Amino acid sequence: MASHFTRDGTPKQPYRTQAEAQSAAQLARTLNGADLNSYRCDYCFQWHIGRRFRGD
Ligand SMILES: [Zn+2]
Repeated sequence: MASHFTRDGTPKQPYRTQAEAQSAAQLARTLNGADLNSYRCDYCFQWHIGRRFRGD
């Protein structure tokens, strides 16, 4: 289940559109090699990036 919060309990950066979230995920991939997905949040109805299936 995708999460609104990071592992330390703070709210994730919200993105208003999927395109914004995807470009942020792409940047993280480029900079850190992070494998991130963008997903629509059921809590705030904006977009976040993270490891979708690990709630991170
Ligand atoms: Zn959210």
